[in-house]
Amino acid sequence: MNTPAAGVGNPAGKPAAPVKKAAGRNLELPEHLKAYKGVWVFLEHDRGHVHSVSWELLGEARKLADTLGSNVSVAILGGPNEPLEQFAAEAFAYGADKAYVMHDAALLGYRNEPFTKGLTDLVNRYQPEILLLGATPMGRDLAGSVATTLATGLTADCTALNIDPTSRALAATRPTFGGSLLCTIMTLAYRPQMATVRPRVMAMPPSQPERSGEIVQETLGMVETAIVTKLLDFIADANSNKINLPYADVIVSGGKGLKHPDNFRLVFELARVLGGEVGATRPCVQAGWVEADRQVGQTGKTVRPRLYIAAGISGAIQHRVGMESSDVIVAINTDPNAPIFDFAHYGIVGNALQVLPALTQAFAEHLALRGKQAA
Ligand SMILES: Cc1cc2nc3c(=O)[nH]c(=O)nc-3n(C[C@H](O)[C@H](O)[C@H](O)COP(=O)(O)OP(=O)(O)OC[C@H]3O[C@@H](n4cnc5c(N)ncnc54)[C@H](O)[C@@H]3O)c2cc1C
Repeated sequence: MNTPAAGVGNPAGKPAAPVKKAAGRNLELPEHLKAYKGVWVFLEHDRGHVHSVSWELLGEARKLADTLGSNVSVAILGGPNEPLEQFAAEAFAYGADKAYVMHDAALLGYRNEPFTKGLTDLVNRYQPEILLLGATPMGRDLAGSVATTLATGLTADCTALNIDPTSRALAATRPTFGGSLLCTIMTLAYRPQMATVRPRVMAMPPSQPERSGEIVQETLGMVETAIVTKLLDFIADANSNKINLPYADVIVSGGKGLKHPDNFRLVFELARVLGGEVGATRPCVQAGWVEADRQVGQTGKTVRPRLYIAAGISGAIQHRVGMESSDVIVAINTDPNAPIFDFAHYGIVGNALQVLPALTQAFAEHLALRGKQAA
């Protein structure tokens, strides 16, 4: 169905072009949104450290901008004395061309209201075509309110980002229907096109320290009394640093094939010898065998270790999407037809209760020998 455009953003006074509609929804970009250009990444930082997901997103932003023939910018919001310019320099090394930096006392520590105002103001002023955020607790919170304020589309937890060759729109792919299907979503008639991506889904881009860029200083223009939420104190979660699956180099994961929670001890022993972390499938977490922070998969963590050992894991799609980017996958399973053997690099058809201790012993002996040779 074709209907006339509302005439918004038609400064030349020309008659508005008809807008294509499907089932009541616009499929064509209105004239006033065609000025939106460039790919932006919201740079997430906390107490002096930039979250790695921001660098991972910059790698993707660079590829998208190169396809579109446009530039990459970062939005960095923080307190008066936070090293935002230093973060900008790092962002240039990871592929950004420009950094919009906003220092304000109200931006010291994340709160939704000032960050939403700061980011939406920047977007309205500089009109980026694409805006990417990490699917972290902060990124998810901010992306939702920014998209709502800007009345634009947001695709959450994407696993792939591309440019659609026909429409030149962001083609954001994410799992759907419980992870059994992947769907690609495009925001055709609104700008910016927003997407969030979980940590470790995208590869880390190489750092090019010789790259530089332009820093643009911006102001928030919001008074503290206008902000309902107050940040009184920061209390670190005593357990938050104990399990860090997404950034572990080695992960040994166990599944229901281990049969009994006590047998997870074998997984922990191998992980300890290899200096790695312990992961698990969802049924193991649901059965209370291990903590929820250890779950790998669609509703757990996305991991990208150099070595992933899967013991007694069938390789269901919901588990696979969380670990298939691992450099080397070794699967131990009694069933030679288990789906995990379709994508594992090395397969051991055998009983994990026997194979795990054998591997632990072999690695321990090998590493001890290497230690002696190095001494
Ligand atoms: C919406 C939704 C979200 C989900 N999210 C996740 C998620 O994030 N992560 C996740 O993992 N799952 C998730 N699941 C569940 C997923 O579909 C699978 O059910 C789950 O991954 C299977 O776990 P498993 O491999 O441990 O168990 P099973 O599928 O029961 O497989 C056990 C495997 O162990 C093998 N085995 C048996 N005995 C031995 C032995 N002695 N030695 C070696 N191998 C043995 C068997 O051959 C079998 O292949 C989700 C499901 C849904 C619907």
